[in-house]
Amino acid sequence: MEPRSPRVSRRRAIGVAGGAVAGAAIAQTGALPAFGAAAAADADAIVVGHGLAGLVATAELVAAGRKVLLLDQENEANLGGQAYWSFGGLFFVDSDEQRLMGVKDSHDLAWQDWLGTAGFDRGVDDPAGQDHWAYRWAQAYVDFAAGEKRSWLAGLGMQWFPMVGWAERGGGLADGHGNSVPRFHVTWGTGPAVVEPFEKKVRAGVAAGKVVFRFRHRVDELVTTNGAVTGVRGKVLEASAVARGKPSSRTTIGDFELKAPVVIVASGGIGANHDLIRQNWPARLGKAPTSMITGVPAHVDGRMLGITANAGGRIVNPDRMWHYTEGLRNWDAIWPGHGIRILPGPSSMWFDATGRRFRAPDWPGYDTLHTLGSITATGYDYSWFVTTQKIVDKEFALSGSEQNPDLTGKNLWLLLSRVWQTPEPIRKFQQYGTDFVKAATLPELVTGMNRITGDNLITLDGLKRQIEARDREIDNAYSKDAQVQGIRNALSYPGDVLGRTASAHKILGPDSGGLVAVRLNILTRKTLGGLQTNLQGQVLGASGSPIPGLYAAGEAAGFGGGGVHGYRSLEGTFLGGCLFSGRAAGRAAAAATAG
Ligand SMILES: Cc1cc2nc3c(=O)[nH]c(=O)nc-3n(C[C@H](O)[C@H](O)[C@H](O)COP(=O)(O)OP(=O)(O)OC[C@H]3O[C@@H](n4cnc5c(N)ncnc54)[C@H](O)[C@@H]3O)c2cc1C
Repeated sequence: MEPRSPRVSRRRAIGVAGGAVAGAAIAQTGALPAFGAAAAADADAIVVGHGLAGLVATAELVAAGRKVLLLDQENEANLGGQAYWSFGGLFFVDSDEQRLMGVKDSHDLAWQDWLGTAGFDRGVDDPAGQDHWAYRWAQAYVDFAAGEKRSWLAGLGMQWFPMVGWAERGGGLADGHGNSVPRFHVTWGTGPAVVEPFEKKVRAGVAAGKVVFRFRHRVDELVTTNGAVTGVRGKVLEASAVARGKPSSRTTIGDFELKAPVVIVASGGIGANHDLIRQNWPARLGKAPTSMITGVPAHVDGRMLGITANAGGRIVNPDRMWHYTEGLRNWDAIWPGHGIRILPGPSSMWFDATGRRFRAPDWPGYDTLHTLGSITATGYDYSWFVTTQKIVDKEFALSGSEQNPDLTGKNLWLLLSRVWQTPEPIRKFQQYGTDFVKAATLPELVTGMNRITGDNLITLDGLKRQIEARDREIDNAYSKDAQVQGIRNALSYPGDVLGRTASAHKILGPDSGGLVAVRLNILTRKTLGGLQTNLQGQVLGASGSPIPGLYAAGEAAGFGGGGVHGYRSLEGTFLGGCLFSGRAAGRAAAAATAG
């Protein structure tokens, strides 16, 4: 039986914090305590991180009448964190949109897929196991995705594009990795529209005097009193007017200490910290790449995980990460090393750096983790799509709100124009990016590929032989080429026919629109492990017991339980993990501070 959250009386909490310390904070920062000088506690709860998980947790606390301090190291322009930049893809099970597209889904099928994908193997039944709570979060999360998730969000005004995407098609076994059916629902308005309802609730809380923002407050330490977390300490960073996503100054101008009976850590993962990624890189994925591009803003620095561990929080599954294998260097970078992921359809041919075609299941959009291992096994940090302009036009989508002005701006006309023209963001990458080669003939393409890398690893003969062999299979109705089989399979799903899969054609044929090669970089993104939490979002210590006063949500908590995804994701599960775990932690923290 799950231990209940310990209740911390708000009146008692006021006696927890020393007024002298609050006074010291005032002396050093000039700031007044948040909710009146008389209280020794500055709020009922402190939330660290104003990303999606922090916003949802704060909204829940406010709804329960609690007073919240919402701290972030970044400025107000960054409210919403990574979620703002996201594509807004959400994993729903048996949704109206799926039914409209003729997709038959069910809770049982989704749970089979989740288990086959996660591969939980670290002590599911052992209360001390790293996967013990992860597994329980996964059960709860699939229930949520097949249950109230869509109606809850629809009730907040969110809508979804009706063409459900089929991400992570899997490793080839019905009960193994991958989505048996399409489940990736793109939010109308992308990431900003996922953030909006929760930002609104939090801003209403500010207006009602229930929430105080503390921007540019970087937490460096969790304060503990008699084994319970009772506040945070850190540095006030100098004011910054940088635009959203741009790296901000780390110059400090003062210290702060704030007290509350409950602290929720919602500080995100480690995706911008390549050192931490390399330190945690698992041997099963080969050597850590020397060169990676960065799929998240610089604030996803992972510092707060170590800080929470210093206060006794247990980090589990740190070697499980979700990095993409189809990264483009952004010609118009916002954050340092900014990379953009291609969300590929199934038709491009995929070659390693030496020009050898990958085998199943390393086809575009099938098995991200397996493909990552195949790439690192080559000893090179990049690979190649060899494709056609026709495939690029129909199948390439770029992940990120700013790369989809039609969906983000809710502009139907612009969206429709994808049917007859290359979307402008893709056109710009082809024009200005450093990873694309376009050519009329294969020799020119090979020359361009070798010029980009300087490695001279691609031979015309080798590439030609493999492409011609694949192209021959287009004439063969009973192909043994598994990727060609996959293309035909995709063309039996209306969603793919409409928007994601080009009609089967020969790469070297006359109707290709021209040849295209794309150098694909490894793009850092999501942290699958993290702080181990129980179903209330309480952070567990080394003994497996909750640390009083300490909660975690979102990517910092491995999207729930320290790793709700296990080894792999079915995609669209991260925003949902922040919504679900943020809500759970907010509700539990509100219950713990009742009375
Ligand atoms: C381009 C892009 C596309 C994506 N697309 C999708 C998608 O389609 N579907 C999907 O499910 N997921 C997607 N994701 C992933 C998803 O957006 C993130 O996993 C999720 O938003 C993480 O939210 P979070 O609240 O846990 O953390 P974050 O958004 O990282 O927020 C954490 C906040 O904590 C602050 N912070 C950190 N440390 C401290 C400290 N010590 N003191 C004070 N503040 C601190 C940070 O400044 C930050 O504001 C995408 C991500 C990106 C970047």
